[in-house]
Amino acid sequence: MRIILIGPPGAGKGTQAAAVKSRFPVDHISTGDILRENVRAGSPLGIEAKKFMDSGTLVPDALIIEMMRERLAKNSADGFMLDGFPRTVAQAEALDELTKEMSMPLDAAILLEVPDETVVKRLCGRRVCSSCGAIFHVTGNPTAVEGICDVCSEPVVQRDDDREEVIRRRLSVYHRDTAPLAEYYEKSGLLRRVDASGPFDAVKSRLESAGLS
Ligand code: AMP
Repeated sequence: MRIILIGPPGAGKGTQAAAVKSRFPVDHISTGDILRENVRAGSPLGIEAKKFMDSGTLVPDALIIEMMRERLAKNSADGFMLDGFPRTVAQAEALDELTKEMSMPLDAAILLEVPDETVVKRLCGRRVCSSCGAIFHVTGNPTAVEGICDVCSEPVVQRDDDREEVIRRRLSVYHRDTAPLAEYYEKSGLLRRVDASGPFDAVKSRLESAGLS
């Protein structure tokens, strides 16, 4: 299975991807996670990407496309689930080329739809483990011990780009640059819309009805 997950920041792409992965043997590839690893490692890509990420804008297409070309070349034959890529029409066109070159056509583009104000509430309360990346929420899914990851006991933190003013910028970038992908994938017959508001389990069952998770 080869699918892409599209949706605004905070739509639950990362959390739902983890649920899908537990049922299907796919490689979960998150561009945000790869970029954050590069930032942590201080690589040239990480240093370049950080200024865009901190300000809530998109990292330039050329950098992202090259990064994904390398990552997809390492992909196992079982398929993949792309989370956070493509985010622009230029990236979608590049992905079409890549999947053609690799003879790995996409099966579906899942659009997780959620209102802006829900996104703001979700992201302001999101906390992420600084070590293993597990995701929590201060009210919706709190850690057992405040500030400490349930999985690996390291501190959980708020991402720099989960501050409200940055979230609002990320949302306007999403509407301008990424939302047009719905039309792009509708034209190719790959688009499946899923209502991503409400609790995790409700969204998970809607994904199941759409053939996933
Ligand atoms: P995410 O964790 O998916 O919300 O991504 C965090 C940040 O990484 C975004 O706000 C962008 O700055 C950057 N980023 C992730 N994926 C992409 C992409 N496909 N194109 C451009 N920038 C990206």
